[in-house]
Amino acid sequence: MTKGRPEILFPLFAEITTLDGVGPKLAKLFEKLDLTRPRDVLFHLPERAVDRRPAPDSSEARHGEILTTILTPARHRAPSRRGAPWHVDAQDTAGNPVTLVYFRAGRDMLADLLTIGAPRLVSGKVEFWNDRVQLIQPEHVIALDENGDPVEPLPAFEPVYPLTQGVTQRVLHKAARSALARAPEPPEWIDTGLLRRRKWPAWRAALEAAHAPASEEELAAAAPARERLAYDEMLSHQLALSLARASMRKTKGRPSHGDGRLQGKVRGALPFDLTAAQEKAVGEVHADMAATDRMNRLLQGDVGSGKTVVALLSMLAAVEAGGQAALMAPTEILARQHLESLAPMLAATGIEPVLLTGRDKGKAREAKLMAIMDGAPVVLGTHALFQKDVAFRDLRLAVIDEQHRFGVRQRMDLSAKGLKPDVLVMTATPIPRSLALANYGDMDVSVLDEKPPGRKPVTTALISSEKMDQVVERLAKALWEGRRAYWVCPLVEESDTKDLAAAEARARELRDRLGPALAPMVALVHGRMPPAEKDSAMAAFISGEARLLVATTVIEVGVNVPEATIMVIEGADSFGLAQLHQLRGRVGRGGDASTCLLMYDPPLTENARARLSVMRETEDGFVIAEEDLRLRGAGDLLGVQQSGAVKFRVADIETQAELMEIAQDEARLDVARMEAEGESFWGSERGQALRALLYLMERDAAIRLLGVG
Ligand code: ADP
Ligand code: MG
Repeated sequence: MTKGRPEILFPLFAEITTLDGVGPKLAKLFEKLDLTRPRDVLFHLPERAVDRRPAPDSSEARHGEILTTILTPARHRAPSRRGAPWHVDAQDTAGNPVTLVYFRAGRDMLADLLTIGAPRLVSGKVEFWNDRVQLIQPEHVIALDENGDPVEPLPAFEPVYPLTQGVTQRVLHKAARSALARAPEPPEWIDTGLLRRRKWPAWRAALEAAHAPASEEELAAAAPARERLAYDEMLSHQLALSLARASMRKTKGRPSHGDGRLQGKVRGALPFDLTAAQEKAVGEVHADMAATDRMNRLLQGDVGSGKTVVALLSMLAAVEAGGQAALMAPTEILARQHLESLAPMLAATGIEPVLLTGRDKGKAREAKLMAIMDGAPVVLGTHALFQKDVAFRDLRLAVIDEQHRFGVRQRMDLSAKGLKPDVLVMTATPIPRSLALANYGDMDVSVLDEKPPGRKPVTTALISSEKMDQVVERLAKALWEGRRAYWVCPLVEESDTKDLAAAEARARELRDRLGPALAPMVALVHGRMPPAEKDSAMAAFISGEARLLVATTVIEVGVNVPEATIMVIEGADSFGLAQLHQLRGRVGRGGDASTCLLMYDPPLTENARARLSVMRETEDGFVIAEEDLRLRGAGDLLGVQQSGAVKFRVADIETQAELMEIAQDEARLDVARMEAEGESFWGSERGQALRALLYLMERDAAIRLLGVG
């Protein structure tokens, strides 16, 4: 099998300075646009186009619009005073007067550019002056040849590229032409039937069309050329995910048949029956675990949908089969919380879970490592669990409580470490189908779409920060009655230090306002606090010694204090809806009615009001996620922390979810074929085409998996 990048792609991966007009200086600026290779320039598509279709005369011209027409200059007028512009009076072909205005010009330049009596094709923006059409510094003035045709073509729709400071349209236009000129015609990787049905052009033709739109419609995401390029991105992405999925499944785990002996004890001790959704998920997980292929399953369930019990029963199947199970949480607090909720449920089995986090040091850590090596059945922890010196005797199941902190890449690294357990990823943030496909396309999915009975609805209200006094007054009353409340400080972007200062200031102020009797009941937690302090603050709130917990978003990730019934979120408009939903999910967990106050600094923008209203109208995480996606866009929804979030240059996963599904189906078919045909697949026409696609799209992880690099 041929290895390495296919030769036809070489020119696209040369230095970017090999493009016309791009020197070292521009290359630096191009980096800001994420353009480092000629290939990138190909996918840097115009965001709109200027309509420069010629009009026969200027009488229809409107202020602010572009006029493109043939003008014959009649007179040059020098500036009337210092700093005033040059004027060129001209006529269009219908005899209407048009004046061209130049602030930077000279007699000679104008004599050349706009020779009196010589018609020119002129294009510029229209301004009216005393009812006369003026074009100020028109962008294009093109001479006509003896046949009356412009000596250089002016595109009817001139593409407009996204820019950065120091890079002009002209430069990008030239670079794009230069990159296009070297674009090869690779073998087709899209199924011919699909290509025909969608009326998609071939790859190179699609690029040509996307860079030279001939109409408004051709700029739309649904235009065949653009859609094809979007699909290419999705297909390569789904191929990468499908390959990851296949390679993981191929690494045979041993089948784990739980005999139900431990699970039975836990079920018997639970104060409730599982919901139908929980039973179904447990069944799916057990079936996967009993199979020889490795499990790679996502357990998706809204806040409070009862994922913990599902995880526990899954873990016990691994233990019943004679192995170990580990649960990894994204933060210390969450890992501890899992210990607190799992330990009592495990009591009936006599199993004591081992908790290992980054905070275990010295002798204590040694002892835990020994226990794990000895085969401790249930191990909980943070990512510290998968550090080099941690050795399991027989890890059969890894449950990863993701809570949106890990991405596709990190999930794959687990197996890179040589561990080959079944994997169950839990995610609490419901994500719309399109995003799930993009981010979890390598997994099978179980959904908890039914909540355990008995949850009280949370009353949600929007309130202006100008009414802070009233809020504090009501809060004081509630605290006096013994109720417990969270107070979430506004999000301070990208600065933990400022975040901390703001939270500390808020805690001080609330202590002041609540008065000396309640002040000692105010606790503060923050991500930057020393762990021991954080623990004692949390412990105080859990025991009820503290009744008000002032916090930054660290509490978002799954804190469970059923007695807490009030959630105040300051600067609610600065949070994503998914985050607000998570935060609100901290209350309404006990038997008492709960309240969530969303505070904002007036005035609220239209969009912010719409978003916050969604929170008032529904508690359904899926509805909220879909709305959030619609109102904010995919990048925002996943948040900056989502390091594994997928970025696309052309594809729009918000509006093109349907394409993503097609891409996933196709990719899975191709990967099945690869597996059936083995090495020889890569010699086939289809194999060659897919290899070109993966290299073109820089799907490095997939290329490594294939061993074709
Ligand atoms: P999450 O999916 O957010 O992790 P948890 O597993 O923490 O949800 O469950 C939330 C609460 O619901 C817990 O107090 C748990 O004991 C309770 N619970 C879970 N399953 C059921 C059920 N089938 N019936 C009643 N309560 C349940
Ligand atoms: Mg949970």
